[in-house]
This record gives sequence, C-alpha cells and structure tokens, in this order.
Amino acid sequence: MNYQECLETVKELNEKFRYYKSIESLFEYDQWSSLPEEGTAYRQQTAAFIGDQKNALYQGDKAREAAKYLSGVKLNEIEDEIERGLIRTFRFRYRNAVHTPEETLRSYNLIKADCMKAWNQARAAQDYGIFMPWLKKAFDLKKEIALAIDPDAPAFDTLVGMTDEGLSVKEVSEQFDVLKEGIKEILNQTKAKGSTGAEEIPDIPDSDPDQMAAFGQRLARELGYRPERGGFNDRVVHGFTSFMGPRDARVSAYKSGSYNLIFTCLHEAGHAMYSCSSSDRVAEAGMWGGIEGGFHEANARFFENMVGHSHAYWEYYYPQLQEEIPLYRQIPIEQFYKLTHRVRPTLRRISSDEVTYSLHAILRFELERDYFAGELKAEDMAEAWNDKYENYLGIRPSNDTEGVLQDMHWAGDYIGYFQSYALGNIYDGQILKAMEKDIPDMEDLLREGKLSPITKWMEDKIWQYGCCYTAGEMVEKLTGSRLDAAPFLEYLRRKYL
Ligand SMILES: [Zn+2]
Repeated sequence: MNYQECLETVKELNEKFRYYKSIESLFEYDQWSSLPEEGTAYRQQTAAFIGDQKNALYQGDKAREAAKYLSGVKLNEIEDEIERGLIRTFRFRYRNAVHTPEETLRSYNLIKADCMKAWNQARAAQDYGIFMPWLKKAFDLKKEIALAIDPDAPAFDTLVGMTDEGLSVKEVSEQFDVLKEGIKEILNQTKAKGSTGAEEIPDIPDSDPDQMAAFGQRLARELGYRPERGGFNDRVVHGFTSFMGPRDARVSAYKSGSYNLIFTCLHEAGHAMYSCSSSDRVAEAGMWGGIEGGFHEANARFFENMVGHSHAYWEYYYPQLQEEIPLYRQIPIEQFYKLTHRVRPTLRRISSDEVTYSLHAILRFELERDYFAGELKAEDMAEAWNDKYENYLGIRPSNDTEGVLQDMHWAGDYIGYFQSYALGNIYDGQILKAMEKDIPDMEDLLREGKLSPITKWMEDKIWQYGCCYTAGEMVEKLTGSRLDAAPFLEYLRRKYL
C-alpha cells in the first residue's frame, strides 16, 4: 500500500463508521422518545450488532496494513486539515478497536444492566452500599481496558482521552485548580457584597408549556438553527441533540412552562448548529459534526450562557417574551435577569448556576482521578463525595441519593467523562475572548437582536472544520494559547462582581 491507497482505505472506513454512528443516533433518539417497553430487548440486540459491526471495521487486513504504513507518517507535516483529521481519527479508532481486550469488554457489557439496576435500587434505599460493588467492578474493568489500549499511559489519561482527545490529566488538573480557586474567590466576594440575593427574588410560576415551547423554538431559529436541518422533538424527559447526518441535527427538549426551557432550546441549538454547519468539503469527507466532548459542550453553552444569559440579549428579547406570554408582563426585566443569575450552591449540577457549575464537574473528575490513581477506594467514595461538596460548595448531601447516587453517569458507562462539562466553560472563555477581538461591538449587536455576525464568526472560525482538529488544536488556532481557565474567570468576574 502506498500513501494514496492508505488514504482511500481510511476514507472508506470513515464513511462506513459514520453511517453506523448515524444509525446509533437514530436509535438513541427513538429510545428516548418512542421506543415501547417491550421493544427494548430486541433493540438492544440490534444496537449490539451495529456496535460490533462498527468495531469490526478497524479489525480487517486493509485497516491493519493502512495503520502500519500511517504509523510512520508525521501528522504535522500533512498540510490539508481534512486529510490530517482523517488520518488522526483513523489511528485513534484503530488503536481502540485493536487493543480493546474482547473478554474484558464482554464482561463489562454484561454487567451494564446490573449496574443500572443496582444504582436504581441504591437510590430508592438511599444506600450507596448497594451500588458500591458494581461501581468498583465497572471502574476496574474500565481500568483494565484502558491499560490494554495504552500500556504506557496511566489508565485515567486514556479514559479522559476517549472523551477529550489530546488532553492529559495533568493539564486538565492544572487548569481545574486555577478555575476552582477563582470560583471560590468569586463566591466569597459575592457573599461579601450580598449581591447574590438568592432568597429575596420570588420565582416565576410556570406558564403554558405550548407557548413556552413555541417561544424557545423561535429563539433557537433566530439564533440560526434551521428547521430544514433538523427540527424539534418534545416527546422526551430531558434535553439532548441527535446528530443524524451532515445536514440533520435534531433538538429534543422536555416541554414545560418554565423559562428554563428557553435556555435548553438555546443550548441544544448550539450543539445542532455546530453539528450541521461543516463546509461541503468537510461534510463530503465524512468529517462533519464538530469536535466531541468538552468542545461540543462549549459551543452549546456559548449560546446558552454567553449569548442567552447576557443582559443585552434580554434587552432585545424580554419585551417579546412579555408580548408572547402574558404572565411575564407583570415581571420586570431586572427581576427576570436576577432570577436567571442568582448564585447559590446546590447539590446538583443540572440545577446549578453559571458560577458554581464547573465545581460539580471538577469534583467528580477529581474523585475519578484519585480512584484510578489508587488513592481512593470504592468503599470511601460516598464519604469523599460529601466532603468535596462541603469543601467546594459549602453544602453537604444529607443522604447518598442526594450525593454520590444523584445521576446515572457512573452507572451508565460515563466514566472519564465529567471533565468535559467544566472544559466547556474554559473553552467558552477562550472563544469569547477571541470573538470580542474580531467583534468589539458584540454587546450592541445583541441589544439589537443581530445574531448573525456571531453565528457567522462561529461558522467561519470553528464550525466549518467539523471534527478535523482536536479541541486543543482548535483553541490554539483561535487564540494562540492552549487550554487556559483565565479568560472564563475574567468573564465571570466581569459579570458577577
Ligand atoms: Zn450539551
């Protein structure tokens, strides 16, 4: 095989891999919206079959030959970003497919259902002890898999790299320490200033869910999310986006009368616009969809927070909200703004504010890191969890269900995943800083409801490249520096102090 033949093989495998991924997205979309209970078992078999097919792609002779040849190629010497991205992702998938030990993976897949069952039982009994042995099994099998994939790297580095490719645990830890200290300082100062005022602001009662959904969807469209490239689905219990194809990303959001639905719509529209705005060339090469992990989250949170939680944005949209939903006519904009910016530590990430949000993700990352480094035992996880909440957020869960059992991530195969939620914020600080350099009148634009220069910037600078770059490469391309928590802290201070 010569270089050109290898490249053809890589393209061909990538195309098939993307087809399987799209099928998996359709399955996920269906699972959360309409899959009937008695259809679950057969769907699991079908999904397992698709997963096997996807993995087998990289285990054939052609893949092996291409991998052998391409292992000697220096990525930074390839000029074309699509070609470079194709080869990088090929090597990554090949490594994972070939080195994942089948026996261990089978054992892991076999305990998945039990893990989830034990987690549910433990939650009902408020007793981590029921889930603990399963957590230990799941973590240890993951560790075995990670060490088989890359025997030269610590297991947790490999696991983190599966979600956020190219980042080391050391680099993430360093920036998380900066972020953590900065947030603690902001929290102390807001308390000192008495500006959080969380208790005094009365919450807004729910209004008509149909009206709220219509308003949230309109705002998503006005951001630039085009329904002909997706559409809205409200037959779900939580918000998510499904990436079906290069020009097809569906937004799912739980229909409710709460204003939170607006922010869910903006968040998911961010994911969706990112996913379906790759250039034609990138889309044709099968490199559409955007960079996975923390960087995708950054694109969603940018529209939820930097845009959707800015005062200027609501100066334009609040009168329209009042026009559409009569309940809001009695509520002044300042009350709404304060309510959507109250800083108050909670026990749950999903109900947390913009300032404390990252802490929930950081502490979870640290618990995993310490476990995989052998410094924390499964038996001590619930206690360590509570200690961290008390230390970082000043509140202690009163039972395991409020604490270590609060969400399904660890029971549902999301191990080495949590950093991505906080990384999203860090990247957002860096993206905002780069954007403000090019669009110094960003606030004026928001105030006038002119959003297209912002989405156009995202498209030109980030979206058009799909997943050709890693997050680290993309951030360096945008800002000239690597992962850096300082700009996000600067944004928080500007807004909250
Ligand atoms: Zn998201």
